[in-house]
Amino acid sequence: MTQTINKIAVIGGGAMGQGIAMLISQRNLPVVVKEISEELAQKTLRAFRQKIDRAVSRGQIMSGDAQIAKELFSVTADYADLADVDLAIEAVFEDLNVKKKVFKELDENLPPHAILATNTSSLSISQIADVTNRPDKVIGMHFFNPPITMSLIEMIMTSKTSEETVETVARLSQNLGKTPIKVKECPAFLVNRLLMPYLNEAMFLLSETNLDTQKIEQAAQRFGWPLGPYSLLDYLGIDIAYHTTKVIQDGYGERIVPAPILSVLYEAKRFGHKNGAGFFVYSNDKKYENLEDIRNRLFPNREDIDPDQAYFRMMSSMINEAFLCLEEEIASTDDIETGMRLGLGFPAALVGPLHWAQDKLPAIKDCLEESGKIRLAPSKLLVQYAQEEKQIFEDDSDDW
Ligand code: NAD
Repeated sequence: MTQTINKIAVIGGGAMGQGIAMLISQRNLPVVVKEISEELAQKTLRAFRQKIDRAVSRGQIMSGDAQIAKELFSVTADYADLADVDLAIEAVFEDLNVKKKVFKELDENLPPHAILATNTSSLSISQIADVTNRPDKVIGMHFFNPPITMSLIEMIMTSKTSEETVETVARLSQNLGKTPIKVKECPAFLVNRLLMPYLNEAMFLLSETNLDTQKIEQAAQRFGWPLGPYSLLDYLGIDIAYHTTKVIQDGYGERIVPAPILSVLYEAKRFGHKNGAGFFVYSNDKKYENLEDIRNRLFPNREDIDPDQAYFRMMSSMINEAFLCLEEEIASTDDIETGMRLGLGFPAALVGPLHWAQDKLPAIKDCLEESGKIRLAPSKLLVQYAQEEKQIFEDDSDDW
């Protein structure tokens, strides 16, 4: 059974909130964006109108559709205007206390049937749900950036989220033109959880080996990824990666120790593309030290490694995390494949990481074990599959 969603509120009109609200209005649903003040609410409205007008001038949407979207989009700083919404999507600052306060207010001001979704990238949805009197109606609805074009939504379910809430959000996501996947709550959720060990391994290679970064960038691109790992980290932002790995480390402990180069770049305020330098230097400013000089200065004792072997180790760490997720029943094999394709740009021709790994499990297990690193200890399920030469997908069926 699903609930009917006739009107949606988006809480927070920043980068994500604006994009989500714009998407909803373009899919012919009324949406009201709630901001902290009337001034910020009006700023959100101006930004929305500019973006819609720009989309029309670029031929991305028809002017008639733009007019409808404008009529369906409203802003407010007052909870009274949310009294008739069926679902709220919260996209305020990534701060647990701010989100808890917002959810308490939503619980007090929205009708009892309304679903409360959060777009958090990393915070505990259970803790957010616990401040409400309707934890069964609280769910993670993790959009990817930019929400208009990225087609994946991770639906994060706590132990208290009801089936009706999940099914309602799944149907709404499809009506918004998106592909929802079901993810049982865990730190970093699914897509970022699988991405993180791969990127962390790429960073460890810089302090532990003499590897040439360009060789790994090229290996990733040959594999079919849109970006190499260091370019991706620079694009995501070294500061964001730094804070995310801290959250992940809190959740997974010893197993996920952030690579030392990450804090080196963070302390040096090399935040990536956004401020001129990260792993690579994007500005002519001579103040940025060459990455190789940093490596030689801080990590002089490094081993030689073959780039293909190094890249296989990175991919093995991702596959290992996928098996840990299967062991913990975080997501189905299908949803892992879909999530990695649509959320991260995993090469569609390879279907997904588990399809890629299917005939390589013994080699992946050996690679992880031979590294001798705690962070690469293979999951029990992976070892079992490798030893028994079990198939992940029997007879071309994608069922787990
Ligand atoms: P942002 O800083 O651009 O916007 C946050 C907005 O929330 C601001 O406009 C602020 O005024 C508003 N706000 C803060 N407190 C509020 C309150 N009490 N009531 C109403 N509005 C309030 O942030 P963002 O990048 O849009 O991220 C928002 C959320 O989306 C975060 O939880 C983030 O982790 C998540 N997220 C971000 C991305 C991304 O790539 N930016 C991707 C996925 C998820």
